[in-house]
Amino acid sequence: MADYDYDVLVIGAGPGGYVAAIRAAQLGLKTACADGRETLGGTCLNVGCIPSKAMLHASEYFDAAANGAMAKMGIDVSPKLNLPAMHAQRVDAVKGLTAGIEFLFKKNKVDWLKGYAAFTGKDSVEVAGKTYRAKNIIIATGSSVTPLPGVDVDNDKQVIVDSTGALELAKVPGHMVVIGGGVIGLELGSVWRRLGAKVTCVEFLDQILPGMDADIRKDANRIFKKQGIEFKLKTKVTGAVVKGKKAVLTLEPAAGGEAETLEADVVLVSIGRRPNTDGLALDKAGLAVNARGQIETDHDFSTQVPGIWAIGDVIPGPMLAHKAEDEGIACAENIAGQTGIVNHDVIPSVVYTWPEIAGVGLTEEQAKEKGEVKVGKFPMAGNSRAKTNHEPDGFVKIIADAKTDRVLGVWCIASVAGTMIAQAAQAMEFGATSEDIAYTCHAHPTHSEAVKEAAMAVTGKPIHV
Ligand code: FAD
Ligand code: NAD
Repeated sequence: MADYDYDVLVIGAGPGGYVAAIRAAQLGLKTACADGRETLGGTCLNVGCIPSKAMLHASEYFDAAANGAMAKMGIDVSPKLNLPAMHAQRVDAVKGLTAGIEFLFKKNKVDWLKGYAAFTGKDSVEVAGKTYRAKNIIIATGSSVTPLPGVDVDNDKQVIVDSTGALELAKVPGHMVVIGGGVIGLELGSVWRRLGAKVTCVEFLDQILPGMDADIRKDANRIFKKQGIEFKLKTKVTGAVVKGKKAVLTLEPAAGGEAETLEADVVLVSIGRRPNTDGLALDKAGLAVNARGQIETDHDFSTQVPGIWAIGDVIPGPMLAHKAEDEGIACAENIAGQTGIVNHDVIPSVVYTWPEIAGVGLTEEQAKEKGEVKVGKFPMAGNSRAKTNHEPDGFVKIIADAKTDRVLGVWCIASVAGTMIAQAAQAMEFGATSEDIAYTCHAHPTHSEAVKEAAMAVTGKPIHV
């Protein structure tokens, strides 16, 4: 340690980096974490998971009051939107949680190096004009918005925005066009639709939510349409012109053909995110990125340069906060000489719309490519709790290996799908069969009983359909 400043220096304080730093410090390693943002927590806490969920949660209440869902339960209300107050509670949530990470850094004696880091060698970085040497360096620099050529984001003007701008709109747009029918487009499109905007979603592919199970994608599309979101599938945006407070978009069929124009008060560009490696001077450390701009690692999160590790959105895999966190813990444990493992086959993903959409493991299409499968499905309309709560939409689907009955994937659309998917992930982590889930006693009345019934349906014997 003699001439090293730290055992571990983490670059980036998002859910990957801050968790890795805390775990490393817990394991007795002298640790620092560099980040140039004003507050810790990375994309997730500052401009991602947390503020988007704050707006989703609040707008869900507004929608329930406005669309008659509350009236169905005997509560007559005429909601009045106080958008500044809604934004204030979002800002409060972010403040509280980011300050919480600062507290945890102090508690665990992690030094926060305030500034952006760049490599000066294989074991050294410069942050805010000072050079630090570390035995181990973890790259956890995350990702940022993928730009769309011809559609220039300017969050200050609030006409063409990215997800950060879309979280902070000062007024409800008359017409919002969302480019990209992925997670961000549907979550933030839902927020503004609930608050009164007309929302049009333009998606390049023939269906929304790529990567999810085909049944889920189809049903989600039906539900969002019913809620009033308009979809233009198989369509690409090729340009945008801002005229005063409006944008005029040029749209073309994905396969080519005649162009059309579409006017919007706000355009949200949400076509994906790309890894952050610019400015890191990776070449000085002897590192390079792959064709997708990611840093490749081994299963233990080591890169090809000994002593340099990478985790989170900057490496291949789904760009999810919980994946980054788990990788942060495993990476720190590996540095400390323990065996840190992340099972990348069992990473749940959740879209926090109404209803929620969640999945873990293989889609039916992927599973069929690997062999014969059995599928069990159960509609939420047959679940007593969902019915009682006036939440008839959605279903649970379980895909199991036809020979071994081992669960390969679980997909659901339900008001609390994000919570329900946890039991599926846990079952899969333990190598459960559909029969294991079917014979596990589930509390009544809960939405989770639909998971049990879907498991029973794998062998054709659900009770409530
Ligand atoms: P990040 O959180 O991106 O953090 C990286 C940090 O590194 C940043 O603070 C950045 O400032 C810093 N940094 C970059 N370069 C340097 C440098 N050279 N020196 C020092 N610091 C540097 N995921 C979910 O699982 N659930 C959700 O509900 C969810 N909602 C989302 C909503 C939105 C609107 C967005 C945009 C994303 C959402 N995500 C969600 C994705 C999630 O935010 C990311 O997967 C997660 O933040 C990745 O964590 P990370 O630690 O790899 O990187
Ligand atoms: P995404 O990859 O989820 O969706 C992007 C969509 O844009 C895709 O459907 C794609 O086909 C479409 N697209 C690409 N180019 C297009 C074009 N030119 N015109 C029209 N459509 C086009 O990306 P995102 O929604 O921007 O989210 C980025 C990342 O952030 C995701 O990887 C996601 O994992 C993460 N995220 C997660 C959550 C969550 O877990 N709830 C929430 C928000 C973001």
